Amino acid sequence: MSAATSDSKKPDWHARAREITIDGRAWINGERVDAASGATFDKHSPVDGRRLAAVARGEAVDIDRAVAAGRAAFEDGRWSRKAPAARKRILQRWSELITAARDELALLETLDMGKPIQYALSVDVPATARTIAWYGEAIDKVYDEIAPTGSNALALITREAMGVIGCIVPWNYPMIMAAWKLGPALATGNSVVMKPSEKSPLTALKLAELAVQAGIPPGVFNVVPGYGHEAGEALALHMDVDAIGFTGSTRTGRRMLDYASRSNLKRVWNELGGKSAFLVFPDHHDPALAARTVAGAMYFNQGESCNAPSRVLVHASIADDFVAVLREEAPKYRPGDPLDASTVMGALVDDGQLRTVMGYIASGKAEGARCISGGEQVRTDSGGPYVEPTLFDGVTPQMKIAREEIFGPVLSVLRFESEAEAIALANGTDYGLQASVWSHDINRAHRVARALRAGTVHVNQYDEDDITVPFGGHRQSGNGRDKSLHALEKYTELKTTWLRIDR
Ligand code: NAD
Repeated sequence: MSAATSDSKKPDWHARAREITIDGRAWINGERVDAASGATFDKHSPVDGRRLAAVARGEAVDIDRAVAAGRAAFEDGRWSRKAPAARKRILQRWSELITAARDELALLETLDMGKPIQYALSVDVPATARTIAWYGEAIDKVYDEIAPTGSNALALITREAMGVIGCIVPWNYPMIMAAWKLGPALATGNSVVMKPSEKSPLTALKLAELAVQAGIPPGVFNVVPGYGHEAGEALALHMDVDAIGFTGSTRTGRRMLDYASRSNLKRVWNELGGKSAFLVFPDHHDPALAARTVAGAMYFNQGESCNAPSRVLVHASIADDFVAVLREEAPKYRPGDPLDASTVMGALVDDGQLRTVMGYIASGKAEGARCISGGEQVRTDSGGPYVEPTLFDGVTPQMKIAREEIFGPVLSVLRFESEAEAIALANGTDYGLQASVWSHDINRAHRVARALRAGTVHVNQYDEDDITVPFGGHRQSGNGRDKSLHALEKYTELKTTWLRIDR
């Protein structure tokens, strides 16, 4: 095949972006609706600043409508009392429709929040489809329990759907974060009212359209776009919402607990921020592989990942060589046009995030860290908020860039002399989402992994991930777990039913 032929078969994402029609209305009770007030907000693309859609600006009255639809659907039992095997078939059909809509969903995601189209296609859409299918597949294989209570009685311990779940999600992986809530919440028979981020509402709306096409009854899955302090607050305060599945910043997660305490004490599942540490010991056989891995994990998704390994802790004896490899790697992630299929780093989500990231870079320089790669805003043909992959050496634990979540492509290198110091540095944060240990001493790898306070510890890797394993944090990184069968517990209530069998 000639190069010309193969090129002509490649999708022209710019042309598709010009042609795509985007409906920004809410989804309530199985149909597209405007906000009751008629208000909208303009959603602009970080790719090039174009206006994508006028999105419904949901407020308390719209949340009321959506929660009422969710409650009515829950009570009528068309979803909540459907046999798990029947829910499974519909969730599988939904997953197939997501896969069939791959190009449209990926394009919406890229235009909405700026990630490279190649990753929206190869990561975000497949992970979303797999999550929905996996929970569908799992749900008719989960058994309840009988307690060992003796011969004259049975105590059944069952898990029941809760009712209406409010899901509030962030903008960095809009579809995947939505799917991590929707999969377990819907598979267990609940209704959902979702409030996507105002910075990336488009794919959640499309997922709802596909859900109805797949056969999920109207009212079971509702999406109300809007601002956090309006639609988000109304949802989290709602007296008829049974639980909140929240993913976002630790600051907003704190608010979720406050809203629950001021309303109906609904369950709050918080999945929050991180400042994950990546520890490299001198007994690892291939520190260069560790350096390439941390660069890949850090700069993926423009560094806008909750689990980005933003602090590299490296033993002083190998630190100079390690940093030399990082310095070669970082520029490979130079940002470019997200609609170009070869781009590996896209745009930050908006100008506010750009200011935040540039502020952290300035603070690192001011506090005496050495910026040895990147550190500048990038001007691309497409415009938008782009930042160079940035590398700081000589970072100390007191510096702001070592303590706070930056949520941008900024990697900090800290040096340590002993294992105990490395563990203390790694744990010296309020967060506890993930960590990685690089060592070929099996005792050390286990010892350090055990000592790290994090929801997930990787050993000699950072890239493996799967829907089968829980994802979540210790301490101020949250209290819940997304993914895996454990997530089913978040959206179900335990019930004990005693039965006397001798009367
Ligand atoms: P954010 O907290 O600003 O917003 C998250 C969601 O909450 C959005 O939908 C927003 O509209 C809503 N919200 C904001 N203020 C609100 C309020 N007062 N009341 C109700 N809702 C409100 O977070 P973000 O900037 O969208 O996302 C980035 C954060 O998410 C980072 O801290 C990142 O680490 C975290 N995150 C965590 C995970 C995880 O699984 N632990 C995954 C992805 C992102």
